[in-house]
Amino acid sequence: MCKACFDREYNEFNSYSEFEEFNKEFDSKIVKSVYFVANGKYRSDSHVVYKCSICNQLWWLSEPDNHWRGYFLKEHNAKRYIDNNERKGNAMKYGSLIIAFLVIIGLIKSCN
Ligand SMILES: [Zn+2]
Repeated sequence: MCKACFDREYNEFNSYSEFEEFNKEFDSKIVKSVYFVANGKYRSDSHVVYKCSICNQLWWLSEPDNHWRGYFLKEHNAKRYIDNNERKGNAMKYGSLIIAFLVIIGLIKSCN
């Protein structure tokens, strides 16, 4: 692994202190080896894209905000993470639709 890159990825920031810890590492690298590329969008997710000038690895940062825990991941892992989350979200949506449908069928049957 490239030494100029970040030591670890975060699927989410579990606490504010974890985010601060990340920020410290981030501050020390942003000047030397990692630089801002663009504000990115992928599906319904928006994030900031950074690039390592040594190995060209792209990193996506989503800062935590209220209930959102954010993430900091290599591009390919971020994509996979977002894909998985959207799939989970869709499964939840369809799941609750099916339950609502069954409840309605049940109600109709109990009226007869
Ligand atoms: Zn690197």
